Amino acid sequence: MSRRFYIAGNWKMNTSRESGVALAAGLAKAIGSGGSVEVGVAPPFVYLLPVGEALRGSRIGLMAQNMCCEDDGAFTGDISSRMLKDAGVAAVILGHSERRHVFGESDELINRKVVKALSDGLKAVLCVGELLEERQAGGTPDVVSQQVKIGLEGVSRAAMSDVTIAYEPVWAIGTGVTASPDQAQEVHAMIRGLLENLYDAGVAAGTRIQYGGSVKADNARELLAQPDIDGALVGGASLKVDQFAAIVQAGEDLSR
Ligand code: PEP
Repeated sequence: MSRRFYIAGNWKMNTSRESGVALAAGLAKAIGSGGSVEVGVAPPFVYLLPVGEALRGSRIGLMAQNMCCEDDGAFTGDISSRMLKDAGVAAVILGHSERRHVFGESDELINRKVVKALSDGLKAVLCVGELLEERQAGGTPDVVSQQVKIGLEGVSRAAMSDVTIAYEPVWAIGTGVTASPDQAQEVHAMIRGLLENLYDAGVAAGTRIQYGGSVKADNARELLAQPDIDGALVGGASLKVDQFAAIVQAGEDLSR
């Protein structure tokens, strides 16, 4: 089964309204309206509406960086899936390493968010990845398997068509250190095997697994050339039109 590449930009807590709109407009122009790679960007919540406007008519989807697993009520500072949909969001990043390690989100909480997003009609990008000390202790397969297993608890086979997994080794995020294509491929293949155990061969073959961690224009091609790497979740380089457009282009050039 051929999986369409999916390149997503996580803007994190960056940009202003003006620079975010300019970035979105620049990306819409640079990436154009035709192509086989799926593209999305996740601006800060407060810029979803103006960035969504700037993306209108382009093929770049609007994403969010996080969400609450409740519908409404006394959850100060949080944002619900319905609010995201109301703002034109199609997909949400969940379990990003900064949510796990800076804000202390557990696998169980992330799972509740994944289930909620899917049941409310949002696509979910479930992020997983090990810390440097976990890798050095040989714990990568266990840590990542646990995150995938718990993150997907209660997610049906049918709902898996709306799930993307992003393997993001924490030691490679924002550090300039990228996992080598072989290191990334090894974990991606392991995740795909796990999906076969959890679901079946069809789900394993059809689920996209993005790589994230210091992806740039100059290393995207060798990463995307790996058989189990189906796209990229891009932080820093997604804030620069030429860098992000070049990563998307690498996906176009390698499209399966
Ligand atoms: C990320 O934020 O998910 C990420 C991978 O960041 P960076 O590309 O900057 O390492």
